[in-house]
Amino acid sequence: MEKIVIVGGGIIGSSIAYYLARAGAPVTVVEPDPTYEFAATPRSVGGVRFLHDIRENVEMSLFGREVFTGFAAQVQGAAVAFDPAWRTVGYLYMVSDAESARQLEHSAAMQRACGVEVSLLDRDALRARYPSFRFQDVVAAAWSPQDGQIDPHAALMGYRRAAEGNGAVYLKDKVVGIGQGHGRVSGVALQSGATLNCDIVVNAANCWAPEICEMAGIKAPIYPMRREQFFFKIQDPIESIPVMREACGFALRPERDGYIVARTRPDEKKGFNWTQDHDRFENDLWPGLVERSSAFEALRLQNAWVGHYDMSEIDGNPIIGECGALRGFHMAAGFSGHGLQHAPAVGRGMAELLTTGRYETIDLGPFSYQRVIEGRPLLDKGPRA
Ligand SMILES: Cc1cc2nc3c(=O)[nH]c(=O)nc-3n(C[C@H](O)[C@H](O)[C@H](O)COP(=O)(O)OP(=O)(O)OC[C@H]3O[C@@H](n4cnc5c(N)ncnc54)[C@H](O)[C@@H]3O)c2cc1C
Repeated sequence: MEKIVIVGGGIIGSSIAYYLARAGAPVTVVEPDPTYEFAATPRSVGGVRFLHDIRENVEMSLFGREVFTGFAAQVQGAAVAFDPAWRTVGYLYMVSDAESARQLEHSAAMQRACGVEVSLLDRDALRARYPSFRFQDVVAAAWSPQDGQIDPHAALMGYRRAAEGNGAVYLKDKVVGIGQGHGRVSGVALQSGATLNCDIVVNAANCWAPEICEMAGIKAPIYPMRREQFFFKIQDPIESIPVMREACGFALRPERDGYIVARTRPDEKKGFNWTQDHDRFENDLWPGLVERSSAFEALRLQNAWVGHYDMSEIDGNPIIGECGALRGFHMAAGFSGHGLQHAPAVGRGMAELLTTGRYETIDLGPFSYQRVIEGRPLLDKGPRA
């Protein structure tokens, strides 16, 4: 059987390692940091949403739910069992113009065909459901009650321990070079000075994926995009709410006895930036919250953190599968803020591809590197990043 090296042991690399090891493939995962200090996975807010506009994205989220709601039965072989602690919270995606409202209807038809329970709400329905909130700018909303939230770190460790339990080997090291010969991958060079010979390399290094691609002479249109999250509590309790997401990128989600708020900033400078910008909360997010509900006037900011999306420049969707001219070099990166929910499907799909030569369940072909070569973006008209 072909020897496989996975670069990066976050949830994507670990999910791929798990399904490959389960299928009996010899897998080594190279991961420099077992604490995952700067990795995206533990910094994620753990959302699993079905409101995508590309069928395969919806299907991947549905498989994510299947796995995360029955983790112990679905992900087997770990010496220590981790529980991703699925919570059904629901997801509300609000738009503010007629054309976007028509798009919601179009997307909802496809989502329903995939088996998602989704309905469209007008302003009056929103007011009736969430009386503490103002919806004067909202034309329509898509409501998906079964969307959920998980503990991202537990999901990552669950996959990692199960991969190890099934025979995958994790090396605490860093990939610094990709060996090639006759147009094929031949191995990886490690920071420790060692070399690992292999037939297949899977680049699952998230924001660092472009560096790994560069070692292989491949261009990856992916960059780190800073994403700040702020956790706060309010003084007077309000009705229970789902994730509330606005088309402008403003996102509010319930979290334990408080809320997490964030906003996608298209003007965010590309690249790593770990600085926490508290002015952003004061000057942008807090006023945005108060516009939605006066219940957010009296709040207490408890915590904040910075993470980075591995933003796919071409279309906000990942690159999955073999890359261009170098045989045996595969990618699973560029998830642009939705990699956690898709990790189970990507792991299963990559294992199918690498052990049988084709996708057997969800067709991940639309996410291939070929669209980068052809400059053919795969745009999802649902919530982005
Ligand atoms: C703030 C925030 C909120 C998010 N919220 C959600 C959400 O609600 N729902 C959702 O689905 N997704 C969400 N995401 C996205 C999700 O977290 C990521 O898509 C997912 O975790 C990516 O997993 P990964 O394994 O590819 O990356 P990572 O977890 O970053 O793992 C990549 C690993 O590669 C390793 N690596 C780097 N360089 C090398 C090298 N040279 N050699 C070997 N290894 C290397 C790193 O050490 C790292 O551990 C969020 C992300 C952020 C930042």
